[in-house]
Amino acid sequence: MTDLRAISLFNTLTRKVEPVTPLAAGEVKIYNCGPTIYNYAHIGNLRTFLFQDLLRRTFEAAGYRVTFCMNLTDVEDKIIRDSQKGLPADADNETRLQVMRTFTDTYERAFLEDLDALRIERPTIMPRATSYITEMIRLVTALETRGLAYERDGSVYFRVNDLPQYGCLSHIDREGMQLGTSVDSDEYDRDSVSDFVLWKGTKPGEPWWESPWGKGRPGWHIECSAMALSLLGQRLDIHTGGVDLIFPHHENEIAQSEGALGHGWVNHWVHGDFLMVEGEKMSKSLGNFFTLRDLVAKGVDPISFRFAIQGNHYRKLYNFSFEGLRAARSTLDRIRTFRRRMEEEPGPAREGAPDVGIDPRERVERARDEFWQSLADDLNTPEALAALLTLVTDINARDDSRALTREDRDLVVAFLDETDRLFAAWPREQRENLDEEIEALIAARSAAKAARNWKEADRLRDQLKEMEILLEDRKDGTVRWRRATAGSSAPSFSG
Ligand code: AMP
Ligand code: ZN
Repeated sequence: MTDLRAISLFNTLTRKVEPVTPLAAGEVKIYNCGPTIYNYAHIGNLRTFLFQDLLRRTFEAAGYRVTFCMNLTDVEDKIIRDSQKGLPADADNETRLQVMRTFTDTYERAFLEDLDALRIERPTIMPRATSYITEMIRLVTALETRGLAYERDGSVYFRVNDLPQYGCLSHIDREGMQLGTSVDSDEYDRDSVSDFVLWKGTKPGEPWWESPWGKGRPGWHIECSAMALSLLGQRLDIHTGGVDLIFPHHENEIAQSEGALGHGWVNHWVHGDFLMVEGEKMSKSLGNFFTLRDLVAKGVDPISFRFAIQGNHYRKLYNFSFEGLRAARSTLDRIRTFRRRMEEEPGPAREGAPDVGIDPRERVERARDEFWQSLADDLNTPEALAALLTLVTDINARDDSRALTREDRDLVVAFLDETDRLFAAWPREQRENLDEEIEALIAARSAAKAARNWKEADRLRDQLKEMEILLEDRKDGTVRWRRATAGSSAPSFSG
């Protein structure tokens, strides 16, 4: 086993940055609340999935074995509402379940496409809630046996007042909580307003499963407890989600799991902050609601979005704007251009460049230390990136005055590979991929010109110039391109 780097994370339970001490040496088990697959993920959801990906990649790059479980919520109120819409009132249960399945399959596929486009690693385990109905029923039964759950009219509720630790995660005082709890219209039979539903007795027009309490379906919170306990065991290193899940979802998960287990469950609760759009909450009515597909249609490269998000601290609100995306893109281009320069053979000194007395090896070592110290301290990506960008500036200056040797260049490239394991934004490029990227940039530039967005078109031309690609706009509207360097491939055309 390689040396493991120690990683500290802010723990919502204790409200402190604490070192993660895995339950099993060298292995980290992470449960992540995943998407509700009833629609395309919006860029806020994607921000949370990117934070979860960063967390996972950090542990992997730090030498740990990671089990990364992310559930798909494929049965809950909104899914039922939207999937059952067109069905006749007398549709049988088999049809209802089948229609719900087909509906959620569509959005599962879309979700996986988003993951791939954003280079979010596929989860090690990705359970669907409907495959764990038996486990959910078993868990609710266990809570009933322990006196923590009661049945009313075919539904089962958790008795919050009987669990002393309730409120430990959200740090709300129990009296205040009772007042603040939102009342679900389904839950009119509860003994106390703070009790929450574990199993919902069926209503007309809904798909159902058989249970000891009659026909019904699981409540949303029980789904995650059942999947996490079944798949990852009785104790977990880390559980994650967006901040909106702290209460009530995660508080209720703790109640269910610890209520059934009779002991502690999760060591570290880690929550990512929200994405807003230009200072406002995203909403369809405000016209500031975007999916990844919407961004791509506007010419945004998904990896620019990825980089913009990952360059921000996961516990800071991210204020999305197209201006911010452009700034992220230009930083990204700087790193990629630097990578290309380091991959090339050493060139002559730039005339008049001042002599820079930097030892490249020492400089890379310092950047590596700073980079890892920042990441290990609660995933501080802005600082980690700052360490990388200062390296870019220093090494460029040194290479201008006295070219780095091939060996030193390789060391720099190795460090870029190491940092790319986390950022996944400046990979080693295959020549064919490069051609594809060039074609895509040319197409984006043509689209910008068609939209009379001259600033963007100029920016793209400059970007291509940085990559040493020369463009020739032809009368028929096509663009011819070639590499500026000698011995390059034949000119290519782009429509
Ligand atoms: P959902 O598909 O609604 O179950 O949400 C999936 C994930 O997205 C959850 O972890 C939420 O906390 C998270 N989420 C929802 N809205 C936002 C937002 N605006 N910014 C960041 N994360 C969000
Ligand atoms: Zn969950």
